[in-house]
Amino acid sequence: MQKTILVAGGAGFLGSHLCVALLEQGHKVICVDNLVTGRKENLEKLLKHPNFVFKKHDVIKPITLKADEIYHLASPASPVHYQKNPLATFQANVWGCWNLLELSKKNKAKFLFASTSEIYGDPLVHPQIEGYWGNVNTIGVRSCYDESKRAGETLCVDFRRMYGVEAKIVRIFNTYGPNMDAGDGRVVSNFIVQALQGKPITVYGQGKQTRSFQYVDDLVTGILKVMAASNFYGPVNLGNPGEFTIMELAEKVIKATGSRSRIVHKPLPQDDPKQRKPDIALAKKTLGWEPKIPLSDGLVKTIAYFQKRLKIKA
Ligand code: NAD
Ligand code: UDP
Repeated sequence: MQKTILVAGGAGFLGSHLCVALLEQGHKVICVDNLVTGRKENLEKLLKHPNFVFKKHDVIKPITLKADEIYHLASPASPVHYQKNPLATFQANVWGCWNLLELSKKNKAKFLFASTSEIYGDPLVHPQIEGYWGNVNTIGVRSCYDESKRAGETLCVDFRRMYGVEAKIVRIFNTYGPNMDAGDGRVVSNFIVQALQGKPITVYGQGKQTRSFQYVDDLVTGILKVMAASNFYGPVNLGNPGEFTIMELAEKVIKATGSRSRIVHKPLPQDDPKQRKPDIALAKKTLGWEPKIPLSDGLVKTIAYFQKRLKIKA
């Protein structure tokens, strides 16, 4: 059955892939975005699609429209960007979430909130299970993002408890792939762009901190499964459990690009989590989902994307 689906944040990296997947399933997609970090280029092909509508709108303000399902991805995600205007980041995840939950309530629409592994903060439990409450600084530079995502999760469960809104929560771990902005500031795009341009690879701190990197296609499959699952609301971790130090990532990118860039060390940002790896047992059991694309394969696809974008010959 064809549905009308609202994707808030649909012009961003993840949102643009989600819009494509939903259109491929035959649905009508309304993409709402204020373009603070998103780009119309990500929607280039979609704008001509008869089932696709783009509306420039800030989710901090209420919106009225008809939809059967609502995905809330509208928030800056890169530490560089979410720290530029911390109050706007907080509003996107709290006021924006509230507004979109109200819209879900009005429409009796299913809702999905893009939460994050950041809600675990600098985790003391490793790997991170959904039952872990986290270790988060309330007053640090990352707090506008971490705490607003935590509050967004609270709103989801309370709209469900009070009004029966079918609000679902996914906790997304570091995801990468085509449509990331070259100036996004996150580690995978930074390293690839630096390597392709022959610039120094900027490793923050000693590079001993770890992250688990998930290719975007795996994430989109997981998100769609969560929305489709009946009587399942999460929170559920969606990430690739492969864990790498940032130095290992730098070395992999240098190798995969054949770059002659050298590694330079820059100061470690405040409150940078030391380790991160999802426990995905819940997603495996309830959704039959697990990531399929290893980091080495995902890097090749992402490098090809940036080569094209930056017009660098392979
Ligand atoms: P992105 O910055 O590429 O996309 C976010 C999109 O939301 C952009 O198009 C931006 O313009 C839009 N937006 C931001 N604030 C808005 C507002 N107030 N009103 C309307 N639109 C607004 O980031 P992304 O990586 O695609 O992340 C998408 C979502 O997934 C975010 O909510 C992010 O917190 C979450 N997430 C992403 C990752 C990841 O690794 N990519 C990890 C965890 C969670
Ligand atoms: N990082 C780095 N060099 C960069 C960008 C990031 O060493 O050019 C590190 C950052 O300090 C963190 C990790 O890479 O430890 C992941 O950073 P990112 O901003 O991608 O996401 P985070 O998981 O911190 O939100």
